[in-house]
Amino acid sequence: MEKTLVLIKPDGVFRHLIGKIITRFEDSGLKILGLKMVWIDEKFAKKHYREDVAERHGEKVRNELINYIREGPVIAMVLEGADAIKVTRKIVGSTYPNESPAGTIRGDFSHISKEYGNRKEIMIKNLIHASGNKEDADIEIPLWFDKKELHAHKTIRDFFM
Ligand code: ADP
Repeated sequence: MEKTLVLIKPDGVFRHLIGKIITRFEDSGLKILGLKMVWIDEKFAKKHYREDVAERHGEKVRNELINYIREGPVIAMVLEGADAIKVTRKIVGSTYPNESPAGTIRGDFSHISKEYGNRKEIMIKNLIHASGNKEDADIEIPLWFDKKELHAHKTIRDFFM
């Protein structure tokens, strides 16, 4: 079974959306192997948002992301399931909330566009981080969780699969 890392970013925590967001993942049948609230420091944020973010969006966006992710505590979790990385990204939606379909977390709970963010020079606050691919998940999961914090417990889903 595949594993992926999900963060509820500080805007999701401030907006009291933790429960609603976790429900979306649980309802899909993905299993939560680990879950915690953490307020990270700059050094840790730089390990999470690595150089590849700057390559995609520029150094300015990377620096702003490093501040955004430290505006408050985040909820970190590891989800497991068949094709968990892609399925989680589908539940989360697209990077820019205005483009994210209704029914996705970003589409239902946020609406800002890339153009609006760029014009106002503000971060695109889109509630969630989810590993983009297997290589990212393999770096991000051990960064956020010790092996002993992940629990391969039985859930009701095991009775159906
Ligand atoms: P995703 O989080 O969907 O995997 P990326 O890894 O490409 O997307 O980008 C990381 C985060 O950077 C996004 O979730 C979003 O919060 C922010 N972001 C992306 N593009 C911009 C932009 N042009 N301006 C401000 N913030 C951005």
